[in-house]
Amino acid sequence: MNTDWMKRAACEDMNTNMFFPDKAEDEGPARAVCSQCTVAQQCLQYALAQNTSLAGIWGNTNKRQRKRIREGGTAARPLEQSGMAAVNAAKTHCKRNHEFTPENTRWSNGHRSCRTCYNVWLRKRRQATREAVAA
Ligand code: SF4
Ligand SMILES: [Zn+2]
Repeated sequence: MNTDWMKRAACEDMNTNMFFPDKAEDEGPARAVCSQCTVAQQCLQYALAQNTSLAGIWGNTNKRQRKRIREGGTAARPLEQSGMAAVNAAKTHCKRNHEFTPENTRWSNGHRSCRTCYNVWLRKRRQATREAVAA
């Protein structure tokens, strides 16, 4: 596997302990670095290709998230593709400019979406249902 991207890693020369936090609450600093890293996609692909026991934050994902991506089956492929899928996968914000933080990211079938937008959509749907019932 090509590892040239590692030379461009934002975490190069950084304290690696930061990327192996004991608790999910301590993932923030590593994720902040990953979210600015230009080779995060390559990093994630690399991590997904390793043994499933690989720990730590790679490409802004933790072990549990990588498990979910693997289980989604299709997730690894769109990330590798060229074109819109890769462009979308590399985005750090949704189209309404909400950041894809871990808390604001929904994964379903390997597809990522924005939780904030999803909640807005959900509210609108509930409202529409109420209006339909009241009419
Ligand atoms: S995505 Fe994160 S862990 Fe991977 S190379 Fe970049 S900064 Fe390092
Ligand atoms: Zn959004």
